Amino acid sequence: MYSVTKRIDFCYGHRLLDYNGVCKHPHGHNAVAEIEVRTDALDPRNMVVDFSDIKSVVKGWIDRELDHKMILRHDDPLVEPLRRIGEPVYLLDSNPTVERIARLIFDEVRALGLPIIRVKVWETPTSFTTYGPAA
Ligand SMILES: [Zn+2]
Repeated sequence: MYSVTKRIDFCYGHRLLDYNGVCKHPHGHNAVAEIEVRTDALDPRNMVVDFSDIKSVVKGWIDRELDHKMILRHDDPLVEPLRRIGEPVYLLDSNPTVERIARLIFDEVRALGLPIIRVKVWETPTSFTTYGPAA
């Protein structure tokens, strides 16, 4: 198997509901998503996927949907006031933990047609989560 990994930086805000820690307050992260793409064979260019293709597809989606947005649970009381003043929000059906955000990115990248096998999302320089099929 061949694999390549592309790192993509983005910023997001969130807060966790029904949670008793500092993350119950709105705050932000400078996150890094590491997108791992895997294929059995190389393409005619001898590549798994061109790094610039991963960047344009995945970074395009992340920039449009997640970057510099508040990622909130759909029933968070912050959704309505933020929308009222024109602030962008991205809604999830469940708490916007970094684990849930990693699964969101994985599902979207797969839907965009890239053979993603794993995504690692760094929420801080010392904490990351990994989502993908079991090895
Ligand atoms: Zn956080």
